[in-house]
Amino acid sequence: MINITENNKKDCCGCTACASACPKNCISMVCDSEGFKYPKIDSKLCVDCGVCEKVCPVINSENNAELPEKAYIVRNTNPDIVKNSSSGGAVSAFCEEIIRQNGIVFGAVFDKDFNVKHESAETSSELEKFRGSKYVQSDLGNTYLNIKKQLDTGRKVLFIGAPCQAEGLKSYLRKSYDNLFTVDFVCHGVPSPLVWKKYRELMTTKYGSDIAYTNFREKTYGYHSSNLSLHFANGKKSAENTNTDYMLKSFFDGICSRPSCYDCAFRKAKRVSELTVFDCWNITRYVPSVEDDDKGYTAVFVHNDSGAEMLESVKDKFVMYPADVGALLDADGHMAVKNPDVNPKRRQYFEMLNSGVPLDCIVKELIPVKTSRKIFGKFKGVLYKTGMLKQIKKLKKN
Ligand SMILES: Cc1cc2nc3c(=O)[nH]c(=O)nc-3n(C[C@H](O)[C@H](O)[C@H](O)COP(=O)(O)OP(=O)(O)OC[C@H]3O[C@@H](n4cnc5c(N)ncnc54)[C@H](O)[C@@H]3O)c2cc1C
Repeated sequence: MINITENNKKDCCGCTACASACPKNCISMVCDSEGFKYPKIDSKLCVDCGVCEKVCPVINSENNAELPEKAYIVRNTNPDIVKNSSSGGAVSAFCEEIIRQNGIVFGAVFDKDFNVKHESAETSSELEKFRGSKYVQSDLGNTYLNIKKQLDTGRKVLFIGAPCQAEGLKSYLRKSYDNLFTVDFVCHGVPSPLVWKKYRELMTTKYGSDIAYTNFREKTYGYHSSNLSLHFANGKKSAENTNTDYMLKSFFDGICSRPSCYDCAFRKAKRVSELTVFDCWNITRYVPSVEDDDKGYTAVFVHNDSGAEMLESVKDKFVMYPADVGALLDADGHMAVKNPDVNPKRRQYFEMLNSGVPLDCIVKELIPVKTSRKIFGKFKGVLYKTGMLKQIKKLKKN
């Protein structure tokens, strides 16, 4: 029987495979004080059949040093899709293709309260909700069960999720389905839903209004200088970057991700998914003839024939360049194989959060923003409008 306690939380990625597979239905996913869900077993109902351990992707994960078969750098030819996607809008094209084949897509969305969870879509017009990375662990709910139901009818299913979620799904299914297509991403880690909730509460109070729209990667000042933006019902807007935003800074300073992310069992270049997507920050390094227009490209690792067929089917929707797997992995995809550092103040961060200290005070005390960053952030809009931001970035690169 799976037994996750305070001492072995890093052994659970929260994928829900165990809860979904339990024949006695005696496992529920329960939030801990950091806001992450873990399996809780009702020992009165459990018959110790061991299914939960058989389907756990962490227990059964296999390390491999293999490389993906092929790599490409792509951009969607629809500029609106690129604008609203985190990098080059590759995932939207895969979703559209599955819908075209009368399939169903499962991906991460914001619900009406801006919690992040997995939902499905069956028409092209619904696909907008999936666009863009949400830097929070997505709540899978009954997604695995719903996917199995669809697969068993023979319908084509596309699942997009974190590497642990994709591997958890395949592990839960326990057999391969020709009608299942999975896309995962190179994943830095998944931040706490509790931190995201506290952040929203803080910003709602600060701006005196409900949130009407949010985007973790708004390309306000271009792809390379994106912001976490919040648009409020009263017309006000907040847009801050990785150095100045309380949520993004917590994420990238390694202080609020799930414990399993710092020693992730799924950090490998060759995945069980058909495709892996990630940010291509350095397009000119791989394709020197291209001028970087700062709109974003998606890097794609192809893991098998089915992944290659998908790219062939959607190639008319892309500007597409073949790339060297090793070069991409070294420069842009290194988080596929490298764990992030755990911030030594992580425990203190969550203790303060749980004792009611507002998130901005916690960040200011434990991971303060450098004054130079604050000043730069203030003038970024002017620098962008006058073209100086582009010049500064060019100088930095050289
Ligand atoms: C938590 C997280 C961490 C990431 N870390 C890295 C990294 O370290 N390095 C890197 O190069 N790229 C990382 N990425 C991937 C990157 O941000 C882009 O998603 C990727 O480049 C694809 O962009 P796109 O424009 O093609 O698709 P997009 O339109 O951006 O679509 C992304 C898809 O991801 C799904 N998704 C969004 N948020 C979540 C979530 N919280 N959980 C599960 N699925 C989600 C959505 O369903 C959507 O369809 C991360 C993404 C997430 C969500």
